[in-house]
Amino acid sequence: MIFHANQLLRENLTTLEVYTPIVPFEVLSRRLGLPPDQIVKLDANENPYGPAPAVGEALAEFGYYHIYPDPQQTELREALAGYAGVPAQNILPAHGADEMLDYLCRLFLRPGDAIIDCPPTFGMYSFDAQLSGGYVIDIWRKAGYGVDVEAVKAAVLASAADQDSVPQVKILFLTSPNNPSGTWLPDDELAQLLALPVMVVLDEAYVEFANYASRADWVLAHDNLVVLRTFSKAAGIAGLRLGYGICPIWLMDELWKFKQPYNVNVAATVAGLASLRDLAYLRSIVETLKTERTRLSALLATIPYLRPQPSEANFVLCHVDGRDALDVKRSLEQRGILVRHYKKPGLDNCIRISVGRPEQTDRLVETLRAI
Ligand SMILES: *Cc1c(COP(=O)(O)O)cnc(C)c1O
Repeated sequence: MIFHANQLLRENLTTLEVYTPIVPFEVLSRRLGLPPDQIVKLDANENPYGPAPAVGEALAEFGYYHIYPDPQQTELREALAGYAGVPAQNILPAHGADEMLDYLCRLFLRPGDAIIDCPPTFGMYSFDAQLSGGYVIDIWRKAGYGVDVEAVKAAVLASAADQDSVPQVKILFLTSPNNPSGTWLPDDELAQLLALPVMVVLDEAYVEFANYASRADWVLAHDNLVVLRTFSKAAGIAGLRLGYGICPIWLMDELWKFKQPYNVNVAATVAGLASLRDLAYLRSIVETLKTERTRLSALLATIPYLRPQPSEANFVLCHVDGRDALDVKRSLEQRGILVRHYKKPGLDNCIRISVGRPEQTDRLVETLRAI
């Protein structure tokens, strides 16, 4: 018998689709023949201002890169407690919020268990669930992108009513503000969903940009809630990979056993601490981006073929009317402006535009008028 090592792979992994990332910045810069500083990158919701100047200084001055990180991230967790308004013992730093998503799926899902996803939304929930052999039950958002609370309830309760039901629903992923629609999940709806017998993961990657308050402290009152936050968006260090989960104590006990001891690297820790020491900078950048979001949305509404959606995040989703959204994306790309394009259920013929600097907005809008 001929032995192929690939026969040893877990079966459910061989059917996974390959994750399609956006084309790297440097590659596009070369392909377009434009230097990176002339590319208007509005496709991945990064912060165009980058981190506070103090972050670069702290990284340059730090002298202990040869020493392993503190596995318990004691100093960072204390600083995060002050920022997020919850005790340090409820906070777990991670290699991006994405790492927390991976941990949560692997902690809760056996092959055959299910998550509830509310598309259109962030793609990593279904990606990580499938890595664990989980099923993804899609409960589509309603027109206007609100969560279909009644349909979620029905799906969770149907699963809970029958303990032998296959698949068993373990996690409900919610995102507020939602990516890519920018929609806020109201308090009363979250409260209803938290009453269900399911683990609720509330992804607050964009919460700093919202005109509503974070629900981080709800974790203290709900033992089935985890809130995820990140330094990638408002704090401007997406490239360094730093996020955190706010978790009930019983789950923290499990995560301490489960996590990679050195999951958060020293550079990310130094940068995170420096960001948290200069909250005045962080808040002023967030205000600048919120003001620019208002201006961008108003300008997009003047483009005859675009229908911008209201947004609580640092991006604006637009329906494209009467022409192909992919053509619009490509025409912008040829002129050095990058936006995200969608053509899938619920996001048929859409583009998503991240909020940039005012001069980037001006170049974008000028180009949208010209093409
Ligand atoms: C960008 C994003 C994240 C990723 O956060 P990282 O900390 O960079 O891993 C998580 N959730 C949503 C909804 C996002 O858009």
